[in-house]
Amino acid sequence: MRLSQFHLATVKEVPADAEIASHRLMLRAGMIRRLASGLYTWSPLGLRVLRKVERIVREEMDRAGAIELLMPSIQPKELWEETGRWEKFGGQLLKIKDRKQQEFCYGPTHEEVITDFARNELKSYKQLPINFYQIQTKFRDEIRPRFGVMRAREFLMKDAYSFHLSQESLAETYAAMYQAYVRVFTRLGLTFRAVQADSGAIGGHGSHEFQVLADSGEDTIAFSDGSDYAANLEKAEARAPTASRPAATAPLQKVDTPTQKTIASLASFLGISPRQCLKTLLVRGVNGVVALCLRGDHELNEVKAGKLAELPGAPVLASEEEILAACGTRPGFIGPLGLPDSIPVIVDRDAALMADFVCGGNTYGTHYTGANWDRDTRISRITDLRNVVEGDASPDGHGTLHIARGIEVGHVFQLGQKYAEALHATVIDESGKAQLMTMGCYGIGISRIVAAAIEQRHDAAGIIWPEAMTPWRVAVCVINPKNASAAVNDAAEALYQALSQRGIETVLDDRGLRPGNMFADMELIGIPHRVVVSERGLAAGTLEYRGREESESRTVSQDELFALLA
Ligand code: ATP
Ligand code: MG
Repeated sequence: MRLSQFHLATVKEVPADAEIASHRLMLRAGMIRRLASGLYTWSPLGLRVLRKVERIVREEMDRAGAIELLMPSIQPKELWEETGRWEKFGGQLLKIKDRKQQEFCYGPTHEEVITDFARNELKSYKQLPINFYQIQTKFRDEIRPRFGVMRAREFLMKDAYSFHLSQESLAETYAAMYQAYVRVFTRLGLTFRAVQADSGAIGGHGSHEFQVLADSGEDTIAFSDGSDYAANLEKAEARAPTASRPAATAPLQKVDTPTQKTIASLASFLGISPRQCLKTLLVRGVNGVVALCLRGDHELNEVKAGKLAELPGAPVLASEEEILAACGTRPGFIGPLGLPDSIPVIVDRDAALMADFVCGGNTYGTHYTGANWDRDTRISRITDLRNVVEGDASPDGHGTLHIARGIEVGHVFQLGQKYAEALHATVIDESGKAQLMTMGCYGIGISRIVAAAIEQRHDAAGIIWPEAMTPWRVAVCVINPKNASAAVNDAAEALYQALSQRGIETVLDDRGLRPGNMFADMELIGIPHRVVVSERGLAAGTLEYRGREESESRTVSQDELFALLA
């Protein structure tokens, strides 16, 4: 590509709301332009990168035996009503009407459409297993679209859906897709981890997320330094403590804590560690409120709490009125002591090992010190309720957990029969009986990957592309092309042709910019290799080469350059 005939539009200024590096750099490099909140145009430069990601994903899906199709992005309401998701999907679902007032949504995902396709197309067990995929635009009306294409409203996803007669067959395809994902992210040159994710009702190892490690990531992951254990924080199990509870020694006392409503203020007021304080949360239960107790330095894990039989779903804190009615005080002074028997007291495993602890006094402005389980207060149930923290023992028994931030770029999930059941998607089995199909689904955020790669590798000058994603591998820069001798221009052209003929994607910067500006652009857009053709070099028969991550240029011959790029 000759840059004089391309549309490269780098910019200096970026809007203040571009909070993270990838968003800023994609705007500065001119890869994307904002149309409206969460909606972006991919410029010719951006599209070159997006297409590279798409190609690798497509190759690996094909290699893994998935078959490509393309479903509409607009989907009829009736189909979503069959699965109950027309209402349940919530505000992310963009609903639209046609001129006949018929309702549709813009697909945020395609389980409904693919299952409808499958129930019509697949009749016999002989057609199974089968795995369909597409690369298609999705729309989700995200509450907070942000970080550019990282969390956009319209974005490009690869989504695959597999159909099976048995769980064993699903497990096989799941493993194959898992491996395909490992290949995709490895080929893309990303540093990533496959982490166990919450799989709702399925349990076990029914779901993994592929997370690109980056400090700006919105997800938190826990991984072991002694094994390959890695899990999303939502899912990571806090290993059951091996110690037993110390004996009660302190007398129970009520102390005045007039304004100490938080664990931090309480601990500093009493001169103790937050570990010695008990945190009691009153949440809405199936029948009235439920008390959840954690050690003061631990945080509630909402996914774990949401699975408790005593709760109707994700935990919702009780209102001030509900708290007042249930235990006679306000938030900040709640404790398990003296709560009515009707309120279940569910205690985290580590909190259950506390002795002589401090907890709310259930009257305004008071706490108890020297409180003890059993002696002073009851426990209805002990379970894992907390988020794991840095330094916890790995739940697989090997090593210590570390916490890192991640960007979710892919998700594989064993769906089971949820959609097949809702849409009555059956095939005839060997004995001629109709059987529900079992499904898996597998997503990759194609457009998010572009941002994630930049998040992972950039410097003050700009993007540093992995070779697999870069818009071009080599930039041939011509110094002062308008005034240079014909020989310089000819040499640059010849080099450009020679590289291109070797199948090396090359861009010829023949725009006639000042060298400083030209180099700054090539660094900003992240081209891994830069070669300068100048009068001086030509006279000496050499080229000036610089790798994107090198701090100095060096002189190379053309053959050395080819060897370097081979
Ligand atoms: P997140 O938790 O980040 O919202 P999700 O769990 O909703 O993601 P999935 O439904 O599993 O995502 O979608 C598959 C993939 O699509 C995700 O792994 C992610 O890479 C990508 N993706 C999801 N939402 C967006 C978005 N708003 N913008 C860009 N990519 C997205
Ligand atoms: Mg989401």
